[in-house]
Amino acid sequence: MPALILITGHLCNNNCIFCSDKFFRKEGNPTLEELKKIMIENPHCDELVLQGETTIRKDIFELLTFVKTRNLKRVQLLSNGRMLSNYEFCKKIVSLNTITDFLINTPAHKQETHEKITQVPGSFKQTKKAIQNLKKLKQYVTAYCAIIKQNYIYLPEIASYYLKLDVDEVQMVFVHPLGNASTEFFNVTPKISLIEPHLIKSLDILSKEKIKIAMNGIPLCIMGKYSDKIIPFNKAISFYAKKVNDKESMKFIDESNITIDLKENIKTKFPQCKQCIKNNSCEGVWNRYAKEYGGKEFKPIK
Ligand code: SF4
Repeated sequence: MPALILITGHLCNNNCIFCSDKFFRKEGNPTLEELKKIMIENPHCDELVLQGETTIRKDIFELLTFVKTRNLKRVQLLSNGRMLSNYEFCKKIVSLNTITDFLINTPAHKQETHEKITQVPGSFKQTKKAIQNLKKLKQYVTAYCAIIKQNYIYLPEIASYYLKLDVDEVQMVFVHPLGNASTEFFNVTPKISLIEPHLIKSLDILSKEKIKIAMNGIPLCIMGKYSDKIIPFNKAISFYAKKVNDKESMKFIDESNITIDLKENIKTKFPQCKQCIKNNSCEGVWNRYAKEYGGKEFKPIK
């Protein structure tokens, strides 16, 4: 069954340099009634992703209480974790028993890099504390890492940091050129071939611990020996399905349509891909990436 990606707000207490939501900030947050209406109008969705910084909504408890009445199979909360650094607040969220798993944006392993990315002093300690609180409360936590120019050389250290925090899963996503990441394209987007050695080292570290790893936006020819082992992002989260109140909606309906959309509308393949044995399973690169950097760095797997 498809899942609903519900954008609960455009406001955020971070200002990440790769944030895709920058252009919608001025629209503020939808009301609770608007959010309820979207959920009611999509009764076929049995999974829900709460996107945006839901934790800063004043009505978060009412929202989660309503979500609970929907009896969904899975409810994932995406967050930068800063609000969850308050143990009592975190405990209250968990005690509602609505969220099945937490996806925490954790782009670096040290304060300096993390806060250069989030542009908010103090955010590193708060995000770290949030993960510690969630683990103390026995929650399933996925660390989310957007790979950008500012952090890619640290990917092995970031992987070790995630293990130290005892997260359950890691998602590594090559920066998607939308919002801040579009206007700042050359400032935040590394050449994918440059990330390769750091990425492989980080995968070596994570895979030793048999942790679940999902990736998106990185062609398989860059993943070396891991090209067969990593779960493609859109398969790992089958509910990456439908952005209903996002103006840059990708209008994904189900997993198979995601693949069609990725291949035809927002991702690019190259002439040499025709000779690659992974051509059918590889998503290629974001269109904007191909436009700016071309595709010479991608060598077919034979
Ligand atoms: S050569 Fe093309 S199809 Fe093959 S892994 Fe690289 S980008 Fe994907």
